[in-house]
Amino acid sequence: MHPDMEKLIELQELETRIRHATGRLEQLPRDIAAMEEQLGATRSLLDRQQAASDRTAAERRQLEGEIQIIEDRISKYRSQLSDVKTNEQYKALLHEIDFHGERIGKMEDEILVNMEKEEDLREERLLLEQQLQKESARVDRETQAVRKEIEETGTELDRLRGEADALIALIDPEIYGTYRKIAAVRKGVALARAGENCRGCNVRIRPSVLGQVMAGKQIVYCDTCARLLYWEADPSIESKQEGSSG
Ligand SMILES: [Zn+2]
Repeated sequence: MHPDMEKLIELQELETRIRHATGRLEQLPRDIAAMEEQLGATRSLLDRQQAASDRTAAERRQLEGEIQIIEDRISKYRSQLSDVKTNEQYKALLHEIDFHGERIGKMEDEILVNMEKEEDLREERLLLEQQLQKESARVDRETQAVRKEIEETGTELDRLRGEADALIALIDPEIYGTYRKIAAVRKGVALARAGENCRGCNVRIRPSVLGQVMAGKQIVYCDTCARLLYWEADPSIESKQEGSSG
């Protein structure tokens, strides 16, 4: 094989790993943000729940206050009963006492409903708090793992870029320039394994061209997709090239 082709094959593998690592580095902070957003949603659910609880308690206290005022009024009416002069006045006072007594009854029913609601809300809140605690612990753990992966991927990326740069320095600049141009328009895959067909575009390679590739004396391009062709009998190389067509 042409010596520069060997280096380009190695470079293409390095660049595939660099692309993968770069993609991870872009994705990982988004993963953390998504976890934090989910946690924030649970927190605001708990906040809304707490507000509903507070509102219900305030309503109950308001009712209790109003009942107190009405009870005071009823006591006043009762004390007036002994002072009235006429039957009509007496009946009117009794009517007021009944009327306000009924109001208190209705408000007490409301308070009962209110207290049941408070109890339900309290139970829901306990569950939510447990859920938040669990979620928060999980997010902490996973965030730590993701941060570690970011650090490791960053180190790996530096290493791969260093290796790629060292390799590029050893390749004929003109050949490297061609490789770069083809890679730019072929999703980073500038090389194709040659067989009966070009493995990059699947178009048949003329036997004379294939002969040149196999001889390995010069750089040979695919007539159809312009990728740099190489001959490699080792099937392990073939498997590495799979999925990189296009
Ligand atoms: Zn081709």
